Amino acid sequence: MRAVVIGGGVAGLVAARRLAIHGDEVVLLEASGRLGGRVARAVLGGVAVDVGAESFAVRGGTVRALVDDLGLGPAVREPSGSAWVALADRTVPLPAGGVLGIPSSPAAADVIRAIDGRGAARAYLDRLLPVLKVGRYDRLGPMVRARMGDRVLERLVAPVVQNVYGADPDAVPVDAIAPGLNAEITAAGSLSGAVLRLRAAAPAGSAAHGIEGGVHRLVEALGERLRSLGVDVRTGTPVIGVHPASEGGPFTVTTGREDFEADRVVLAADGAAALELLADAAPTLAAMRRPVPAGTRAVLLLVEDERLDAAPRGTGVLRAEGRADVTATAITHLTAKWPWLAERAGSGRHLLRLAYRGAEPRGDAVVAADAAALLGLDRLRIADRTDAIWADTVPALAPETIAIRAALDRAVLPAGLTVAGSWVAGTGLASVVARAEQAGRPHVP
Ligand SMILES: Cc1cc2nc3c(=O)[nH]c(=O)nc-3n(C[C@H](O)[C@H](O)[C@H](O)COP(=O)(O)OP(=O)(O)OC[C@H]3O[C@@H](n4cnc5c(N)ncnc54)[C@H](O)[C@@H]3O)c2cc1C
Repeated sequence: MRAVVIGGGVAGLVAARRLAIHGDEVVLLEASGRLGGRVARAVLGGVAVDVGAESFAVRGGTVRALVDDLGLGPAVREPSGSAWVALADRTVPLPAGGVLGIPSSPAAADVIRAIDGRGAARAYLDRLLPVLKVGRYDRLGPMVRARMGDRVLERLVAPVVQNVYGADPDAVPVDAIAPGLNAEITAAGSLSGAVLRLRAAAPAGSAAHGIEGGVHRLVEALGERLRSLGVDVRTGTPVIGVHPASEGGPFTVTTGREDFEADRVVLAADGAAALELLADAAPTLAAMRRPVPAGTRAVLLLVEDERLDAAPRGTGVLRAEGRADVTATAITHLTAKWPWLAERAGSGRHLLRLAYRGAEPRGDAVVAADAAALLGLDRLRIADRTDAIWADTVPALAPETIAIRAALDRAVLPAGLTVAGSWVAGTGLASVVARAEQAGRPHVP
């Protein structure tokens, strides 16, 4: 079988590997000049560091199996420490033992530190209120508000859901962001009990792991594996059309330079591009409301400041709405989170990554002030800086994306065409890799 994979992010690389293992003759077409998409590296202060994904969720074991197969298993590392949240009036550790910021023990000291005694008393009502026995909780925000009150939603859940998942808690369906939560609420009789059950069912240790040297090593290893499997990998080759033959049979995949005939196509371009490319093969989708793509900017900083040796804000800080003195949405203290990176950076040198909503430029003064405020310092001096822009990211949990995904699941695509990538799989490498493995298997409906 001839297969064409469109997009050389992790989804495309994984699908191409799977197709080649099954003996297909595979061509991978990547628009940009490099493989990896939102897994990428930069060098700052002489140290290679991830500018995109820097960890992977261990849930399901799919990424770990891939990492092992590529020979990177011995380099897998657990992070050190945990995250904080910058509230309007204070910065506190994100309470331990929660799911999406929803606490499992509303009366725990770290919860009270974030939402005060009154907020904790309201959250505790969750244990006394009856749960839905018929039907399911629909949207996350209204559910948390009804069971645990505004303060849990605004101070704990919203910062996680907005900054980690890029979603609006009031709009996101519970089943899309936390599959299994509804069933656990029914079983446990409360939301906090459900969180406890989900945590108990999760494997011991941290929920996400990294790779010594950086998660970008995964992309390098996948690229090498594809070459050894004989995949024809072409960078700098944007696809401009995917056309199914009217009577079934091969697809024609067009680029500016060359056309490719294929019995199977895996469309693993990121969402905005994928939706354009689906117009001919899936006109039903073209007529649906499109999600609004978002731009983000990641700013990586090297700072030489011994005050950071003690990791004053753990692995980093998520900003809650209402924290007016900061414009970044989050900061990751990379050298605190990954001890191997601290060793490479050297004593007193720290790598930080700030996240901004919107791709527009941010000056050094703004970035330094944001980093200092989030880390609880009076000021910081930037020794080196590099930025990465992620344009046109389709939010995986926007209502429009969820509707398009449901249409895809109802098989509106011609046989032989499969869609992969974070916009259909869900954000994060665990979801992306699992779906791409499926997309690369034979006879996918
Ligand atoms: C700053 C940041 C931090 C993150 N941190 C984490 C993390 O710690 N853990 C985690 O699990 N996830 C994280 N993520 C999310 C994770 O990186 C993504 O979910 C994942 O990498 C998406 O992979 P993908 O292959 O679906 O898409 P992409 O990586 O976007 O790849 C799509 C590829 O398709 C190509 N393409 C587009 N149009 C065309 C076309 N017409 N023809 C050919 N090619 C085309 C693009 O150039 C791109 O290379 C992070 C994301 C960002 C931006």
